Amino acid sequence: MVTPHNTRGPLVGTWTIGDATVTRLEEQLGYASLPPEKFIDGLDREFLARHLDWLVPHHYSVEDHRLITSIHSWLIRTGRHTILLDSCAGNHKDRPGFARFHQLDTPFLQRLRAAGVQPEEIDIVLCTHLHADHVGWNTRLVDGRWVPTFPNAKYLFSRVENEIGDPRRSPAAEADFLRRNAYRDSVLPVIEAGQAVLIDGDHAVDDSLTIVPAPGHTPGHVALWLRNAAGRALFCGDAIHHALQMHAPHWNSGFCELPDVARTTRRRILESCVEHRAPLFPGHFGAPHVARVIAAGSAFAPDFVAPERD
Ligand SMILES: [Zn+2]
Repeated sequence: MVTPHNTRGPLVGTWTIGDATVTRLEEQLGYASLPPEKFIDGLDREFLARHLDWLVPHHYSVEDHRLITSIHSWLIRTGRHTILLDSCAGNHKDRPGFARFHQLDTPFLQRLRAAGVQPEEIDIVLCTHLHADHVGWNTRLVDGRWVPTFPNAKYLFSRVENEIGDPRRSPAAEADFLRRNAYRDSVLPVIEAGQAVLIDGDHAVDDSLTIVPAPGHTPGHVALWLRNAAGRALFCGDAIHHALQMHAPHWNSGFCELPDVARTTRRRILESCVEHRAPLFPGHFGAPHVARVIAAGSAFAPDFVAPERD
């Protein structure tokens, strides 16, 4: 994988929201797998040129004309729960043709331990959706079998997402090599181990955490609100892929499965973040990976928030 020059931030960073902490666990940081015009459907060079002052160096490489994206998990620690939100691409997964996901061997679990958490201590894994870069560390390979990486966790999946992601029930998933493989090696073993919980609609994890539907990128995509006395934060998965989309929220990623729904959800999410002054914790933003959302005419702008500590 290509790691762009001069974009390396800390591999682990922590933000505090009241009595909760949020730690980013990096799996990889690099060039987006598609050219900018395909990664963000509608993007043109003139638009890019107007935003170079903040895009370079963490979000776009002028030399190579490539967007920069991160693949990371959010480790959320509240007084009651230790949650892993999205689980990256994982190690040893068979994803031929997808260089960023295929047969990786990254020290992701060492980074989790360095953040002070053992895999046994994770009590909730939440996958915003079941694409290959959000389910990978759900399982790991042990003696030739895929087993849940987090033995004491409940894994929360959207029921809709599970329905459309299961190649045994969904012809579209069966026809999609990447979705099919990801389901078979990273979702099904969790279900067979009895650790999966399928959720519908709004779902309160506890007083401070609520999962809400955020469809469009995929039909069953969800987001997570964190609320406590200090304020709110929103974990939005792939409802928005790149910070540039704040300036053009009608532009979808090239991977959004329901384009019109994705546009509506993205705008609603960004408006909610403005209203509640909630920092946004997305799945793929470049460094520093977290942004407050500023209203800017009919669109928005990122106000990046650096981690308080590594
Ligand atoms: Zn993704």
